[in-house]
Amino acid sequence: LNLRKGSIELETAITPAKFSKASICLHSFFLETKLSSSRRREETDAESLVRKDYALFQQDTLNAFDAAYPIDASYKEEEKSIKRTHDAMLASENQILQGMLTRDFLKAIPPLLQKIKLPSLLGAYSYIPVEIKYKSSIHLGDRLQLFFYAYLLEPILGYRPKQGKMILSSGEETEVFFDAKLEHRFFDVLLQMKKVIEDNLTPEPVMCSACSRCLLFPHCSSYWDESQHISLLSGMSAHMAKKLIDLEIKSCSDLASMKPEEVQGITGASLDHSLRFVLGAQARNQNQPIVLKKPEFEKNFPIYFYDIETYDERVFCHGLIKWDEKGVSEKYFFCSQLDEEEEKWHALLECLEEDENAVVYCWTLYEKTYIELLWKKYRGSEKGYRNLSRNLKDQCAFVKNHFVLPCRGYSIKAVAPYFNFAWQSKNANGMNCIAWYRMWLEEGDLEIKDKIIEYNLDDVRAMLHIDQNLRKLTPLKER
Ligand code: SF4
Repeated sequence: LNLRKGSIELETAITPAKFSKASICLHSFFLETKLSSSRRREETDAESLVRKDYALFQQDTLNAFDAAYPIDASYKEEEKSIKRTHDAMLASENQILQGMLTRDFLKAIPPLLQKIKLPSLLGAYSYIPVEIKYKSSIHLGDRLQLFFYAYLLEPILGYRPKQGKMILSSGEETEVFFDAKLEHRFFDVLLQMKKVIEDNLTPEPVMCSACSRCLLFPHCSSYWDESQHISLLSGMSAHMAKKLIDLEIKSCSDLASMKPEEVQGITGASLDHSLRFVLGAQARNQNQPIVLKKPEFEKNFPIYFYDIETYDERVFCHGLIKWDEKGVSEKYFFCSQLDEEEEKWHALLECLEEDENAVVYCWTLYEKTYIELLWKKYRGSEKGYRNLSRNLKDQCAFVKNHFVLPCRGYSIKAVAPYFNFAWQSKNANGMNCIAWYRMWLEEGDLEIKDKIIEYNLDDVRAMLHIDQNLRKLTPLKER
């Protein structure tokens, strides 16, 4: 790589965090370096809690290295930080805390540099990088980040370290060895980033595993909506989308006229999946659902809709809606403290004792797992349990098996808005609800409690809303 030399601004520099993200989505790096005005969303409550937990964990872990030489580097005082780090290395310090390393376009503040016995340009010793992560296992992005530090150490040591260490949330220290595959991946990503910096590459945004955590999502989302992008199709992985895009098949209208066999040949997806991609593209083009198979809706009242919220493997809220000839009634069973789990479970079962043959819809079978766990733990009304477990039906599977919808997927948050359903709370999602419950346990704020209950009931209301709207669609012709 022939990267330009000289000091560069932090906005255009490649940092470990930007590198790790670019290894999953290069478009994020393009937006951050080239389009500073890109639309961003705010950090959610769950993300903010995780960030605070991470900072606390990192600080506690670093405090444990009380014998380490502290640099406390800052990008604002780059020259001073680099000099102090080099001086500490020359002074043969055993451990160097938060030093600063740079090389061409790359800058980093590794949490810890640890001295090892191995000759280098410094003398009879050398250093390896140590990273701290508030997580339970090591992923590719983490290993790339460690390799990033090793690459920056190379000019100082006269060779590139072959290993680093990772401290995980359990406090456990794990050695990470750098193999040829990791090295190849690192230089491949770096080359792509260099092309972006030099205006030789404008990467296409493709929906991937990083999107749900990405603050730039509003920017990409409006691009996908405006262009009716293939990334909007349910089940379309980033890998498959990239193969289609390489052949200039970018939009749903490009895909809608293709044969499933052609799509299969390009993406490697199964024929069934490829057919769903084509039908999904057609549904988006017409902005209308396609009926795959004539649905048989439940005719016998009452019909129940049910959803739970969990925290730390425990159920803290059950939401239940009963729909019968008289109308709709709602109930919730909320645990003010986690030790109320048994009491609320028993109350739910008692409520379900009548209506032996009533269907209970849930969205996916997440609820089923917890119903069995709660029954094993606490037992309760046999009649209620029998009615709940025997009559439980997966509404999501029903929708997916009978309809192709012009939605991003078949999660309740993707399907209900298509039928104009909106959640009352801002940033309504499962992760935030867990964060809100933690806030409720810590602060006891009644507004938060109400927000959780409304969120849970909104999930259940969304299921009822979908059911009622799908019934109106049935005059649509089958495919
Ligand atoms: S939203 Fe997704 S595609 Fe867009 S920049 Fe973020 S990770 Fe990349």
